[in-house]
Amino acid sequence: MKTISILGSTGSIGTQTLEVVRENQDIRVAALSAGSNIRLLEQQIREFHPQLAAVWSEEDAKSLRIAVADLPVQVMSGMEGLEAVAVCEEAEILVTAIVGMIGIRPTMAGIRAGKDIALANKETLVTAGHLIMPMAEEYGVKILPVDSEHSAIFQSLNGENRSRIHKILLTASGGPFRGKKWEELKTMRVEDALRHPNWSMGRKITVDSATLVNKGLEVMEAKWLFGVELDQIQVVVQPQSIIHSMVEFVDGAVIAQLGTPDMKLPIQYALYYPDRRYLPGDRLDFAKLGSITFEDPDTETFVGLKYAFEALRCGGSMPTVFNAANERAVSKFLNHEIGFTDIYAIIRECMDGHRVIPSPDLGQILDTEQSVYEMIESRW
Ligand code: NDP
Repeated sequence: MKTISILGSTGSIGTQTLEVVRENQDIRVAALSAGSNIRLLEQQIREFHPQLAAVWSEEDAKSLRIAVADLPVQVMSGMEGLEAVAVCEEAEILVTAIVGMIGIRPTMAGIRAGKDIALANKETLVTAGHLIMPMAEEYGVKILPVDSEHSAIFQSLNGENRSRIHKILLTASGGPFRGKKWEELKTMRVEDALRHPNWSMGRKITVDSATLVNKGLEVMEAKWLFGVELDQIQVVVQPQSIIHSMVEFVDGAVIAQLGTPDMKLPIQYALYYPDRRYLPGDRLDFAKLGSITFEDPDTETFVGLKYAFEALRCGGSMPTVFNAANERAVSKFLNHEIGFTDIYAIIRECMDGHRVIPSPDLGQILDTEQSVYEMIESRW
């Protein structure tokens, strides 16, 4: 029997994690957390019987306590609640399915408490990879990637010597605007950006896929997860989203993981690693598929990917600036306050205005995030 806790159980990854739990008889849920969707969280509490649940505001916590008063579940709020979910004693794996940099502190708390981390929250490694990876090693915990690309790389590296990696080929679908040029991008609306061709995901990451900023965040994540240098990571556009990523080794061999686009596969793989379990769903039919095609990303149009490489090359606090600027810009775009290409303009402006802190501690990372938000609010 495995026991897990989930940060962000009401989101896209969180609900799919619970689907995996539902389909397997040997996983239990110890703790769940959500932002404000207390209706869904209540349903999840009734179905999965966690001993602890957390929401962000104390007001929502009060309402939830009343709603589940008939059940033996403790309800907490704020960062204290997230950290309590992260360290919940019964759980051996913490699934970080929360969105944004708010995930850093609870992830660190989980590591300190000895939990293996099934990591979906990419912002944690993007901004604090230099703190998280050594911490995981110190506490002897596994960081098990949930992102489909990183899971593919992780699967391709099974049984391999990591020092023999020549490069990582990180695949990208290209998003809903693949092939468009700058003038067209400028006119893209929220509804257009939320129409991803292959994957169904949360709103923020879907916009990130449209800007290719998501691929930039994944490059940063890959660097930390697999201990490679920036010039060992190549982004390859593979529009059918069949090859989830590949590793080229020093002898020229390329190992890839393929499958239909279904996040439950990487989620389940992280939960049962190194075992594989039956997963219902579509299987690849190569004859029907016909072909898998490849192209280079258009970084002159989708400049967010270029900025991500620049931020990573710069290092220190610059990836935090890139991430925080994007996080706030996407939220403004989703609120119809700015246009699509303004997301890039905001990232550029914030990166240009930042003086890099070489190896920021957690306090400096969170201060940097705050100053980026303040700068954006004062100018946009
Ligand atoms: P969603 O937006 O669908 O879900 C986010 C979750 O975080 C929800 O449960 C939400 O709660 C919770 N949350 C948001 N703000 C707070 C807060 N202040 N306090 C507590 N909880 C909060 O996101 P996704 O599932 O799409 O993505 C989650 C993470 O996984 C992201 O980092 C993303 O980049 C990454 N990821 C996602 C993939 C996907 O396929 N979706 C693939 C690979 C990585 P509520 O519902 O109440 O708002």
